[in-house]
Amino acid sequence: MTNDELFERARRVIPGGVNSPVRAFRAVGGTPRFIVRGDGPYIFDAEGKRYIDYIGSWGPMILGHRHPAVQAAVHAAVDEGLSFGAPTEREIELVEAILAQVPSMEQVRLVSSGTEAAMSALRLARGATGRNVIVKFEGCYHGHADALLVKAGSGLATFGHPTSAGVPEAVVQHTLVLEYNNVAALDEAFARHGKTIACVMIEPIAGNMNFVRATVPFMQRLRELCTGHGALLVFDEVMTGFRVALGGAQSLYAQAIPGFAPDLSVFGKVIGGGMPLAAFGGKRAVMEQLAPLGPVYQAGTLSGNPVATACGLATLREIAKPGYFDALAARTRGLVVGLLEAAQSAGVMLTADCEGGMFGFFFAAELPQNYGEVMATDRERFNRFFHAMLGRGVYLAPALYEAGFVSSAHTHDDIAATVAAAAASFAA
Ligand SMILES: *Cc1c(COP(=O)(O)O)cnc(C)c1O
Repeated sequence: MTNDELFERARRVIPGGVNSPVRAFRAVGGTPRFIVRGDGPYIFDAEGKRYIDYIGSWGPMILGHRHPAVQAAVHAAVDEGLSFGAPTEREIELVEAILAQVPSMEQVRLVSSGTEAAMSALRLARGATGRNVIVKFEGCYHGHADALLVKAGSGLATFGHPTSAGVPEAVVQHTLVLEYNNVAALDEAFARHGKTIACVMIEPIAGNMNFVRATVPFMQRLRELCTGHGALLVFDEVMTGFRVALGGAQSLYAQAIPGFAPDLSVFGKVIGGGMPLAAFGGKRAVMEQLAPLGPVYQAGTLSGNPVATACGLATLREIAKPGYFDALAARTRGLVVGLLEAAQSAGVMLTADCEGGMFGFFFAAELPQNYGEVMATDRERFNRFFHAMLGRGVYLAPALYEAGFVSSAHTHDDIAATVAAAAASFAA
């Protein structure tokens, strides 16, 4: 069947033909590609067309597709049985492997999706502080828990409104939505609501508005305000964890800000290596507020699933090898520099940034600092570029507010082919 035929058939039985909205290509138009298989840095669609894959399942496939060590670990785990609903040694091994790279945490609980991890971290923060108010930033995505589907209210430091039907105003009445990288808004929110703020949740490098870094002064002030007011700082590293650096984005801020650490961290994507697995963790005193030890309830039938943990563990072992991230970062940097040079030669206005195996580019003169600036970049030009690249066998994220990912399976030749496709697309 062709992609068109499959999409037609899918739309009859699955809302919009997809099981997660951005897959539907609504932002860029056209027919989504139905993927048959992946291999290294490539994915292949139902019509046999090959693409260089810069989505990597939205982040997890940091080793590329079908990495031999991961495949072997998963096959072996499958042969032992799929799920037991009882503890297994591999859960300890995976948590130990995570803790070895993230010194801000002493304990971790495993769950099955980033949404679940962020939602649970929020409940834990509220339970541990005995407070209700949560702060998030416009343009950051933390999964689709009700309390997090919020847009900013009118005016600084006012409570938000639901962004989805089905979310009652009452559920978001404790959620404050602030502008990213805006220190004044942060100061005002804490001045007005500091005593009731349970936590501030942030994507330290926001990959759900393409690629926007929280500035060091902003992060430093955020840490000071949280500490000063007894609120927990929650790093949502579902995307950045084990992706921008082995120690996640928090390791970068710890280099820039002496003694810096978040109170809670949320992981997903890479730690599952392509299987449904996510986690949240922090200091023992906070984590032990969770059931069965403490009053904050949280549970999961498939949490710490033996096949998923085998996949995650094999992935983490590969990326923890010496030199892994340096090589990945160099490859990603090579892509970004190549794109910028190709754009410049063609007289196309482009900016780009990257960290580790994550990158973003914008049709704009300067790197955006917040959601409003991201959405003001040239969307029409992005959409044309997306389709020009797709036609040339390069699969970029199908929306201008999504980050891109390079895997260690991408070779210099893949990067060179991508830059050549970009040069041809810019020229067209
Ligand atoms: C992907 C993502 C989530 C949600 O994870 P799911 O596994 O899709 O539920 C949460 N936060 C961030 C930063 C993400 O990138």
